Amino acid sequence: MQAIDITRTAAPKQKPVDQNQLGFGVYYTDHMFLMNYDAGEGWHNPRIVPYAPISLEPAAMCFHYGQEVFEGMKAYCGTDGKIRLFRPEQNLARLNLSNDRLCIPLIDEAFALEAIKALVRTDADWIPTLDGTSLYIRPFIFATEPHVGVHPARSLLFCIILSPVGAYYPEGLDPVKIYVETQYVRSVRGGMGFTKAGGNYAASLKAQDEATKQGFSQVLWLDGIERKYIEEVGTMNVFFVVGDEVITPSLQGSILGGITRKSCIELLKSWGLRVAERQFSVDELLAASKNGTLKEAFGSGTAAVISPIGQLKCGDEVITVGGGKIGALSQRLYDTLTGIQWGKTEDTFGWTIVVE
Ligand SMILES: *Cc1c(COP(=O)(O)O)cnc(C)c1O
Repeated sequence: MQAIDITRTAAPKQKPVDQNQLGFGVYYTDHMFLMNYDAGEGWHNPRIVPYAPISLEPAAMCFHYGQEVFEGMKAYCGTDGKIRLFRPEQNLARLNLSNDRLCIPLIDEAFALEAIKALVRTDADWIPTLDGTSLYIRPFIFATEPHVGVHPARSLLFCIILSPVGAYYPEGLDPVKIYVETQYVRSVRGGMGFTKAGGNYAASLKAQDEATKQGFSQVLWLDGIERKYIEEVGTMNVFFVVGDEVITPSLQGSILGGITRKSCIELLKSWGLRVAERQFSVDELLAASKNGTLKEAFGSGTAAVISPIGQLKCGDEVITVGGGKIGALSQRLYDTLTGIQWGKTEDTFGWTIVVE
């Protein structure tokens, strides 16, 4: 494995004093990881350097053709003082899935995990300790080759930055209001909806903007072809508890395969519940709401872990789920996942790794 060269900053930044006011993605640590790719050389020169602006040519292809992918994960400081990562190998496997779809040279997943650990160790004193806080880890890869012409870039940069983030729910899990988007679509099968590519988010801004103006916190996307089947919610996968079954849309190419989603499915099954990964239409959702079998709805993702859904607006219909309160299963999933992540609950699945 290549050695990672470390250059420590001579001017450490002032760390945020109040861990209640961290927010999300506001502060960045003292260091970042960089590694270059050049055709003929492969990935080379892995290094940890002071966090600083990156200089690129205006013709750098990422600016023009959007060849960029990213990941999102966290390091958690446990109640036992240990630093844990949650299923990081899954994030790196997904990064390569995204790389492959966008013609970005694959990375060595084991090496990338070592890079993440080395960076987290370097900035370990930035990991917040207040209950519910964590260190968000953002790996990303983008095309740097200066060339105004469409082709897979021959030079790219792999970068990892870290951001101390606040508790997502400082006042307990509050159900959100969701807008079912019937005009815009995020992705279609055959596109790149299953990847974490920046371009997917550019495509989502307009709908999110309009939903925000109408007082909703997130958009629920429908399939791009029939506008009938539920796909996912903003930056989260989505689950519905209907009768004694838990339903989540199957991954058919247009939906991001969340690691929180996967973990929820595995937990629910381990608890003896029936989980169906299948197509689920808005009509079915509305019918379940009307006949009283819709018990819970929630989103799943790294940032919020579980986000209970209290209300959905679809066209002229507004449905309330679980009386606008968090459901028992949503709460149990949240408690179990966060328990494992912060080392409060025994990790019987072997999902966490300790950074030493
Ligand atoms: C990252 C992401 C998710 C959630 O994935 P996790 O691995 O659970 O964090 C869901 N949907 C989209 C569009 C995403 O980008």
